[in-house]
Amino acid sequence: LKRTFFSIIKKNTKYKKKAVILTYHRVAQLTDYPYPIVVSPENFTEQMKLLKENYNPLPIGQLVEAINKHDIPDKGVVVTFDDGYLDNFSQALPILEACQIPATVFVTTSNVSEQREFWWDELENILLKPSKFPKSLTLHIDGHDNTWHTSNMIERNKARRSIHLHLRSMNFYARQQVLDDLAEQVGKARETRNAHRSITKEDLRQLSLSKLITIGAHTVTHPILSSLPYEKQYKEFQESRLSIEGIINKSVEYCSYPYGSNEDFNNNSLKAVRKCDFRGACTTIHRIVDRSTDPIKLPRCGVDDWDGKYFNQRLEHYFCLE
Ligand SMILES: [Zn+2]
Repeated sequence: LKRTFFSIIKKNTKYKKKAVILTYHRVAQLTDYPYPIVVSPENFTEQMKLLKENYNPLPIGQLVEAINKHDIPDKGVVVTFDDGYLDNFSQALPILEACQIPATVFVTTSNVSEQREFWWDELENILLKPSKFPKSLTLHIDGHDNTWHTSNMIERNKARRSIHLHLRSMNFYARQQVLDDLAEQVGKARETRNAHRSITKEDLRQLSLSKLITIGAHTVTHPILSSLPYEKQYKEFQESRLSIEGIINKSVEYCSYPYGSNEDFNNNSLKAVRKCDFRGACTTIHRIVDRSTDPIKLPRCGVDDWDGKYFNQRLEHYFCLE
């Protein structure tokens, strides 16, 4: 009896004064996509139905207010999307509307105005899609020539992963040069595929009109903030904020750090976020939200292409995190 009593207490206290912020990127039906950031519309529908039935979905603003008042709602779940893919509007929004789930979309603004793909998608397109491919690639990076063997798909995939790591730590302009160079060596023009495009200005405006949606900033060029001096970090946040505000005609009060782990931002990033007067900022630090959470270092838990049942198990697990 005693054990049962305590297990009931434990079951009921698991959700008490804790909330979880979920990180999504894309909702789409894609085959052969190498990044684990896509949830199929079918699974996303199951996940949102489950949130509606078993949890307490709320907008980010309400959660931040609750943190400031030390009054976290039980089973609170906040849905967020990073990067600003067009599919957030075309695929996710109708499902969010149907299930009445609030969500925040953090938009990287340079891609909205330039209508380019994100660099990791361009890399995938150049390295993995062409049927004819050179036997090797040589790129001049950080003052060195680096060569990758690319005579079969296994080698091309290996090269993609390795070049990905180089590109990730480069600045925007150096990265554009490497992509130009790669496209030339492969003999493929750089392009923007419909399935991988960022949201357009008009669609962003439409998205912002939904009562369920909060639009947030995710910098201009999606840099590793900790590699930049304070002034540049501030500019990344402030310019993306102003650019979004110009499009949606509403104030932007929340942001998320690109990549978002402890190594990807630093004290200067927090200072820049405060200077921009953001009310909250999301990391990808894997934790739950409780009364001790700092609103400009909000932890989040990632979601993969899981069916409803597995999604529920993961949420149960997330609510047990410290
Ligand atoms: Zn991002």
